[in-house]
Amino acid sequence: MSSELSKIWLSSPHMGGQEQEFVAKAFKENWIAPLGPNVNGFEADLEDYLGKNKHIAVLSSGTAAIHLALVQLGVSEGDEVICQSFTFCGSANPIMYQGATPIFVDSEASTWNICPKALETAILDRIAKGKTPKAIIPVHLYGMPYLVEEVAAVARKYDIPIIEDAAESLGSTFKSKSCGTFGDFAALSFNGNKIITTSGGGALVCKDKVSKEKTVYFSTQARDSAPHYQHSEIGFNYRMSNISAGIGRGQMLVLDEHVALRRGMHEFYKTLFEDIDGVEVLSEPSEDYFSNHWLSAILVHPDKTEGIDREQLRLHLDTYNIESRPLWKPMHLQPVFANMPYYGNKVAEELFANGLCLPSGSNLTYEDRERIKSAILEVFKK
Ligand SMILES: *Cc1c(COP(=O)(O)O)cnc(C)c1O
Repeated sequence: MSSELSKIWLSSPHMGGQEQEFVAKAFKENWIAPLGPNVNGFEADLEDYLGKNKHIAVLSSGTAAIHLALVQLGVSEGDEVICQSFTFCGSANPIMYQGATPIFVDSEASTWNICPKALETAILDRIAKGKTPKAIIPVHLYGMPYLVEEVAAVARKYDIPIIEDAAESLGSTFKSKSCGTFGDFAALSFNGNKIITTSGGGALVCKDKVSKEKTVYFSTQARDSAPHYQHSEIGFNYRMSNISAGIGRGQMLVLDEHVALRRGMHEFYKTLFEDIDGVEVLSEPSEDYFSNHWLSAILVHPDKTEGIDREQLRLHLDTYNIESRPLWKPMHLQPVFANMPYYGNKVAEELFANGLCLPSGSNLTYEDRERIKSAILEVFKK
């Protein structure tokens, strides 16, 4: 039966319509090489969107963006960098690229993001052990802003820069200010499953023009200004191409619409689970928060659902060809990071044990929703 039903994806690319025009223009002008008008245009569109005083360099991925932020903060061999444990590996891997050690910190229950108290405990203990962390990487996971003010206060107190991981939160705001504008640097991602996509890409949001220029320099193999190719530092091949940026320009035209549609999916789940005991939908803790609800996520408490757990729900949805996925597995539980220091309790671990992401794409149809709804009601016997 399931083979006859088309797949409902967690989050799939959703084109607005004008992407091909930007790409076609690049072909017509033979501007296929990296750099070119779409790269500059996409950067200008993003700078307009995030608000004044921001300088943005578009890159090959969000992971590359975090890496170049670490490079510019001088993170190197033997240094320590604090990272939210409850995240995707793209937040943490660049710390390893630099030969530094990630120090993982637990989440708090209201936003599911980095806990400011555990953060301060971690900083004090690392200082006592002899090293002040070189940076803090908090994440706006699933589009939900982290405790922006509390985290900034801790960072200021110990004078540690913030690299804001805004890969999942383009279009989210805290007190009407855009996510991606709170850190010393911020990383965006345009990977295929994100709220807008360039078929793979990212950006680094910088505080000033000089650090944007530095980012561009490092992303194009750190070339000195000379007629020949000369290099005084090690660079990277991380710049976004003019073709990808063309897709990005088209996607910027539909970003706000995508945010509204994803928020619509979140509303759909809020209503659906209102009458089902033991299921919580991740929602904004107060009016200060505005999430793009990139992914709608739930917690299933088996002690209140007559034993139904998130895995049962996931497998049941799968029989209807509906994709859902456990929440991110915390970094401190990953085999590759098993020996790295961790500060906190079991908040992230419990989120991972009981949480599930549900189909959230901006391109889901009325029929898709009806199918999701009846499959969910069936498992909870409603
Ligand atoms: C997607 C993502 C990244 C990395 O972005 P890529 O463009 O895939 O390299 C980093 N952090 C988080 C939280 C993400 O979801």
